[in-house]
Amino acid sequence: MHPQVEKFIQEEHTCPHCSERMSCCESPPVHVGDGLGWGSEILFICLNDMCPLFLNGWAQIENQYGHHASYRYMELPGSRESNVMMVGNADAFKAAVINPQELQSQNTRYQKEKDAVKALDTCVADNNLEPVMTLLLDEAADRVNRSRALEFMVQLNDLECIDPIRNHAFRDIAFENECNLAIRSILKANYRKECPSCFEIIKAQAVKCMHCGETVK
Ligand SMILES: [Zn+2]
Ligand SMILES: [Zn+2]
Repeated sequence: MHPQVEKFIQEEHTCPHCSERMSCCESPPVHVGDGLGWGSEILFICLNDMCPLFLNGWAQIENQYGHHASYRYMELPGSRESNVMMVGNADAFKAAVINPQELQSQNTRYQKEKDAVKALDTCVADNNLEPVMTLLLDEAADRVNRSRALEFMVQLNDLECIDPIRNHAFRDIAFENECNLAIRSILKANYRKECPSCFEIIKAQAVKCMHCGETVK
């Protein structure tokens, strides 16, 4: 997200018609009036259903234009430039409301992904499994970056990667399978296997699990 937009989202706008706090919304793709955008990715809109502008708008538009619609009060971010928007029902724009906290956490996640991608280039030289795991366990991370991380996981050949992956719920089954194959090759390279009974990692040649006592082959 554009840093300017991030700043705008923190703004507080109050509706002059009802004195309620206005909602920060994603702009509709085009300005219905003139076919141009609003020139802003976000807008502040009063979505209070008790707002007098909205309540009285129905009769006004009915009388003036003869159709069923009303007005919502709107302000552009970074200014007090205001306007009214025509809406056909009370729910218009409500799905476009931006939750600043949610957005902030998305940004934090994205930043973490970006940092991890950068650290991938040196992760083998630094013997650093962390960025690899960050990407592998981040379901929202870019698939290409996760696949790259998986290649580095095999190169790092660190048994520490196994538990977090085994305990992770993957949404992408194909990717989970790739991770399982990578784990298998890491176990093999370390002369290890997983006990089929307790899933602890044991020596490949063990016939009895040292953790649960189960006979393994
Ligand atoms: Zn209002
Ligand atoms: Zn066992």
